[in-house]
Amino acid sequence: MTATNGVLIIGGGIGGLTLALQLERAGIRARVLEAVPDLKPLGVGINILPHASKELWQLGVQNDLTPISVQTSQSVFYNRFGQFIHADPAGNAAGFPWPQYSIHRGELQLTLAKLVRERLGEESLVLDAKATGFVDHGDRVTVRTVDSAGAESTYDGVVAVGCDGVHSTIRRILHPDEGALLYSGYTMWRGTTRMAPYLDGASMVRVGWLETGKLVIYPILNYDDGTQLVNWVAEIAVPQRTNRNWNQVAEDGEFFEPFEGWDFDWLDIPAMLRGAERVYEYPMLDQDSLPFWTKGGVTLLGDAAHPMVPRGSNGAGQAILDTRALTDALVEEANPRAALTRYERERLPRTAEIVQLNRVNPPDALLREVFERTGDLPFEDIANVISPSEVQQLLDNYRAVTGSSLASLTGHESRSGA
Ligand SMILES: Cc1cc2nc3c(=O)[nH]c(=O)nc-3n(C[C@H](O)[C@H](O)[C@H](O)COP(=O)(O)OP(=O)(O)OC[C@H]3O[C@@H](n4cnc5c(N)ncnc54)[C@H](O)[C@@H]3O)c2cc1C
Repeated sequence: MTATNGVLIIGGGIGGLTLALQLERAGIRARVLEAVPDLKPLGVGINILPHASKELWQLGVQNDLTPISVQTSQSVFYNRFGQFIHADPAGNAAGFPWPQYSIHRGELQLTLAKLVRERLGEESLVLDAKATGFVDHGDRVTVRTVDSAGAESTYDGVVAVGCDGVHSTIRRILHPDEGALLYSGYTMWRGTTRMAPYLDGASMVRVGWLETGKLVIYPILNYDDGTQLVNWVAEIAVPQRTNRNWNQVAEDGEFFEPFEGWDFDWLDIPAMLRGAERVYEYPMLDQDSLPFWTKGGVTLLGDAAHPMVPRGSNGAGQAILDTRALTDALVEEANPRAALTRYERERLPRTAEIVQLNRVNPPDALLREVFERTGDLPFEDIANVISPSEVQQLLDNYRAVTGSSLASLTGHESRSGA
């Protein structure tokens, strides 16, 4: 496409900033409009699986990621008695040319923002510009913004992409009558604790099961003194208590209770939970998939397009894959509006499938299987509970649907299947 006015990107989160870098690499001008007046390192840990790392590597971001992340070696599963169930190699250890990154979401966002400013120019990232609406003129789109003092501005683009996250204004405008948010029945409490490394110092661990309390734990930063910043997410079945707010600080220590006594020889979990400076609470909600993302010169990307229950390390990853598909379409289609439609045709059905799968069979469904088959009791021998081939099938199925299998990325069979 020939971009005279460039692409307007609404939202400077992980998806919006990556899209700006993708477009710059493809020679397409872009400008990011971000609501917050200052970018701060908000959020806690996320995982970037190899399918998304591949994209970040192609953008030449790897050297910036190394000092602010841990390259995950394996994903390990335990029951709530601390008994080992399965270890699944991750990233390079599984044969991928690209690592799996465990990383602080806010640090990743700041790094991407720095690169956008360096590569696209300072004026390409506009802060304090909250999009409130748009007008589609047929050959261009005008986006209206308001700053924190109430002053309004407008920006013109060839097309506009709503990358404005789970509370997307653009999604609401395109789908004013959308149904309610769907609460999964589980709430997560998230925190980070500086501590000595556990296991090999690079393991993502999933322990327990939702009905009695489940934890996801992984280190996201190595300090010079040998300690690490360890990210943990405690997931518990409770009635919905709060709305979606990534920055909601938990008021009480109620979430500790299910994990009392989880002091295993490989990790003292209660000590880790108590060591966190601050804990955030977030209800696990999603929304049914949309019938369309694109109308004329406007489309959606990332959480704005496909909010999903955060249970398979695919929130940021799928946003990053969207950026590649959209950029390819804009490069290859002469008409930018046709490019948006093509992008939607490729990505909407795929991400809709992941939204569904995250509800019922994300990787941690392995823990559900063990929980149910053992009646939530300790086992003698895991081989009598679930066979290695059943385990592999479950994990491989998730990778196949999310596009993160070794075979789909490199054409080689997964070593974890051996
Ligand atoms: C503050 C914050 C903390 C988070 N913490 C976690 C976490 O701890 N764990 C986790 O798994 N996921 C977290 N997420 C979500 C995670 O970043 C996304 O699931 C994933 O990276 C997909 O990225 P995205 O770009 O679609 O959305 P996001 O990364 O959420 O980015 C959306 C961006 O759009 C901006 N925006 C919103 N409305 C407007 C508007 N009207 N106009 C302009 N800009 C707008 C937001 O300020 C934000 O920068 C967090 C998101 C945010 C915003």
